[in-house]
Amino acid sequence: MSAATFALAGNPNSGKTTLFNTLTGGNQHVGNYPGVTVEKKEGYCIYKGQKLKIVDIPGTYSLTAYSLEEKVARDFLINDKPSAVINIIDASNLERNLYLTLQFMEMGVPIILALNMIDVAQSRGIIVDTQKLSQLLGVPVVTTVARKGKGKGELLKEIEQAVGDKLDQQKLKISYGDDIDLALLKIEKTINENNFLTEKYKARWIAIKYLENDEEILALGRATCPALAQKLEKTANKIARHLQATVDLTPEAIIADQRYGFIRSILQQDVLTVQYDQNRLYLSDKIDNVLTNRFIGPLVMLGVIWGLYQFTFTYSEIPVGWFELFFGWVGGIADTYLPDGMVKSLVISGIIDGVGGVLGFVPIIMFMFLGISFIEDSGYMARMAFMLDRIFRMFGLHGSSVMPFIISGGIAGGCAVPGVMATRTLKSPNERLATLLTVPFMNCGAKLPVFVLLVAAFFAANQALVMFLITIGAWGGALLVARLLRSTVVKGESTPFVMELPPYRLPTFKGLLIHTWTRTWQYIKKAGTVILGISIVLWALMTFPGLPASKTEHYASQRQALLAADSVVSAELEQAESEPGIAAVILQNQLDKLHAAEAEETLRFSIAGRLGQALEPLSRFAGFDWRTNIALVGGFAAKEVVVSTLGTAYSLGEIDPEATDSLGKKLAASPNWRPLTAAALIIFIMFYSPCFVTVVCIAREAGSWKWGLFSMAFNTLLASFLAITVFQVGKLIGF
Ligand code: GDP
Ligand code: MG
Repeated sequence: MSAATFALAGNPNSGKTTLFNTLTGGNQHVGNYPGVTVEKKEGYCIYKGQKLKIVDIPGTYSLTAYSLEEKVARDFLINDKPSAVINIIDASNLERNLYLTLQFMEMGVPIILALNMIDVAQSRGIIVDTQKLSQLLGVPVVTTVARKGKGKGELLKEIEQAVGDKLDQQKLKISYGDDIDLALLKIEKTINENNFLTEKYKARWIAIKYLENDEEILALGRATCPALAQKLEKTANKIARHLQATVDLTPEAIIADQRYGFIRSILQQDVLTVQYDQNRLYLSDKIDNVLTNRFIGPLVMLGVIWGLYQFTFTYSEIPVGWFELFFGWVGGIADTYLPDGMVKSLVISGIIDGVGGVLGFVPIIMFMFLGISFIEDSGYMARMAFMLDRIFRMFGLHGSSVMPFIISGGIAGGCAVPGVMATRTLKSPNERLATLLTVPFMNCGAKLPVFVLLVAAFFAANQALVMFLITIGAWGGALLVARLLRSTVVKGESTPFVMELPPYRLPTFKGLLIHTWTRTWQYIKKAGTVILGISIVLWALMTFPGLPASKTEHYASQRQALLAADSVVSAELEQAESEPGIAAVILQNQLDKLHAAEAEETLRFSIAGRLGQALEPLSRFAGFDWRTNIALVGGFAAKEVVVSTLGTAYSLGEIDPEATDSLGKKLAASPNWRPLTAAALIIFIMFYSPCFVTVVCIAREAGSWKWGLFSMAFNTLLASFLAITVFQVGKLIGF
C-alpha cells in the first residue's frame, strides 16, 4: 500500500513539530532552535484504514531559497509532489504567517490551512472568521490547538479529502502593479512557447522568480538553455532598471509589498477582528523587558545556568548512589560465580566496569535534560541566543551560532554532532566554518561524566561551582578560538542577525517527560551498543598480548613460595599463641600485592599499555600517567569511553581486587593523582580533538577533510598547551 504523501509546512514556532507529533504519534523533540528540522522527519498515520505519510518540512518564513531550509522545503514540494501541503499557521500572527501561504499557492501546490494556536489568539482578543478566510483564499481551513490535540479530527477529514490529488491546483494570481504584471506576462509567454522548465514548475512562478532574481532558478535556467535564459534575464533586468529609476525599489521589494497588501486586504474583509487594543503589552513582552534587559538579562541568564547545575546535582545524588550500589552488586555476583580467567576479566573489567561507568551517570543526565527541556520549551532558550548575539558578534560569530553551541552542550549535556549539523542555518560561509570548528569545545553529554567524576573525587566541597567554571571556561575558550580563527584562517565580514522570539509558554508536563526520556534513552542506547563495543575492544587492547610464559611462571613460582612459606609461618605463630587468623591475613596481603604487581605488568605489556607509556614522556608534563593516556586515546573513539577506560585500567591494575570502591575513590587514593592532575585533565578533555564521529561531520559539513584534520590537530595542540601550562604553573605555585 503506497501512502499518499502530505507535507507539513509553516513558519518556525507555529507548532509544526507539535502537530506532527499529534498526527503521527512520534516522539520528536519539540524545540525552537533553527536547524532541528533541517533533517527530513517523516511519520505515518492511519486514518479510516488509509495510510497517510506526513513529512515535516523545515520551518521557513519564505520560499526564496536564500537559506538551506527554504531550499529544502521548496525542493521537496517540487520533486516529491505531495498530495497537499498542510500549511500550519499561527492564528495570533496571521498577517506574517500568510506570507508563506501565498507563496505555496503561487507555486501551484494544493494546500490545507491549519489555523493553529487558536487558544493564544483568543486570549489576545483576536477572532478569525475561518469560513470567510477559506472562501476568500479558496482553500480548506481548519482550526487547531496542536498542543492539546484539538482539531485533529477535522484536519484528518480534510486530509482524507485531498488523497488522490482531488484537491484543486492553486491558481492564485496576485497583481504586482502594471509594470511587473506586464513583464510577467511577457516572460510567461516566452516560457510557455519554449516549454522552458515547465515540466517541473509553473510558467508564472518561473517568471516571478526571474523578477525576484532567484539565484537557484537563474542558475537552473542557464544550465538548461543558456540562450533563452539570457533573453529572460535581459527582460527582467530591464524592468528592474525601470523600477529603480521610477520608484527606487527592486522588483523583489515590490513583489513582497504587494503580497502583504494582498494579505491585508483579505484580513480586512472581516476575516480578522481584534477586540483589544493592539498596543497593549502582552505578557511575553513584559517578561522580556526584564529578562532581556541589558543589565539584568545576563545576570538572570547566569543565574539560570547556575540553578540548572544546583538542581541537577542536588537531586541526582541519591539515584546515582543506587546505580553505584547496583553495579557493585552485579560485579560482586560475577566475581563469585564466574571461574577465574579471561571470561571473568572480560565481564568484570570490560563490560560491567565499562558500561556501568557510563550508565552510572544516567540520573545526572536525566535531571540535566529535564532542566534543559524546561528552559527550551518555555521559550527562554531563544532569549539566551538573543542576548548572546551581542557577545558573539565581538568574536566574529553570529547570533545563529548560539544554537549550535547550545545544542553541542553549551549549557551541558548536548552533542557536537547535531551541533555541527545545526550550523547549516548560518548563511555566511566564514561564520559557519568558525562555528563548526568551535562547537566541539562545548561540554557534550559524553565529556560531562568525566568532569562529574573528577569534580566529585577531587573538588567535593565545591562541585556546582567547579562545574559552573568548566562551562564558562568552555565558552570562553570557544569564543577566543573563534576570534583567532576569524582573524587568521577564516577571515570575512559579519552578517546581521534576525531571529524570532517565541512567546513564553509554560512547558507541559508530558512534553518535558518525553523530551527528557528521548534524550536519556539515546544516552542509554549508546552505552548499550557503541560504548559496549568500544569497551570490549579497549579491554582487549588492555589485556593482550598477555605476559610471556617466563613472566607468568615467575609469578606462579613466587606464589608457590609464599604458600609454602605459609605453612611454616603459621606453625610458628601457633606456637607463639598469637591471635588466630593473623597468619591468613598476612598471607592474603602478600598474595594481593603479588597479584597487583602481575596485573600491572600485564597492563603495561599490553598494546594499550605500550601506547600509553610511549606517550608518557610527553603527557608527564601535564601530570598524566600512562593509564590516563590509554583513556584519552580511547576518548577519541567516543568521549564516553574516557570514564569506562579509566575504570577498566584501574580495575585491571587493582591494588586490592576485593575493594568495591567507586572509580572516583580509587583515583583519589592513587599516588599519581591530586587535584592539580584532575584540573589539568579536565582542561585537556575540554579542548582536545573532537571524537571521531564529530570529525567526520566537520569534514562533511565544511566540504573538505582538511578541516576535519585541522580540528583534530589544532584542538589537541591547544589542549596540550593549556593542560601543560596549568599543571606546570600549578606545581610552581605549590598546588
Ligand atoms: P515549530 O517550530 O513550528 O515546530 O513549533 P513547535 O511545535 O516546536 O511549537 C512551539 C511551541 O508552541 C511549543 O512550546 C508548543 O508546545 C507550543 N504550541 C504548539 N501548538 C500550540 C497551540 O495550539 N497552542 C498553544 N498555546 N501552544 C502551542
Ligand atoms: Mg519544530
